[in-house]
Amino acid sequence: MSCWVQTCGRASSPPSQVYCDVHWKHLDTHLGELTAWIGRGAASLYVGRTNYPERRLLTHFADKDHDRFAILHWTAHRYEIEAIEKSLIEVVKTKFSKKGKNKSSDSEGKRSGPWNAVYVSWREMAKSPPIPTLWREVRNLDEPPVCPTPGFLALPVFLRAACERGDAKRLINERYAQPG
Ligand SMILES: [Zn+2]
Repeated sequence: MSCWVQTCGRASSPPSQVYCDVHWKHLDTHLGELTAWIGRGAASLYVGRTNYPERRLLTHFADKDHDRFAILHWTAHRYEIEAIEKSLIEVVKTKFSKKGKNKSSDSEGKRSGPWNAVYVSWREMAKSPPIPTLWREVRNLDEPPVCPTPGFLALPVFLRAACERGDAKRLINERYAQPG
């Protein structure tokens, strides 16, 4: 298979098996820097993957008091998502060992649906300067979700929980609690 950057022409290779070495390194470094930048202002952070970012944000708001969420990268390729998730978990573990909330070093989430996003969820430190970006506010799960924006170095999308934490807990429990 050749690298997914269409103008590239080199063969894709591990670990992503989607990009060539050069583009993989570029993507991996870029996403690692973005994660580190977010982590510096965070009191607590977590890296994961999801096919429904709004729902995951409200779940983490309910469980971990993380009200901030950045969708860093969308892909429909399982090797790519696993390689990126694993690499970003490593960034969190090495740079933010105290505030990182990932327990395992591995990418072990389930994949559901073709498109999955790698994300960071976090809670800001009281004194951190605000991130200068537009936040997409999430109050419930009634609005249309963000569309996947696949591609090499797509812009991140920032979400913020804009409801009470108790409301997020109720919503998640009512709609998504697993019986038993
Ligand atoms: Zn390439």
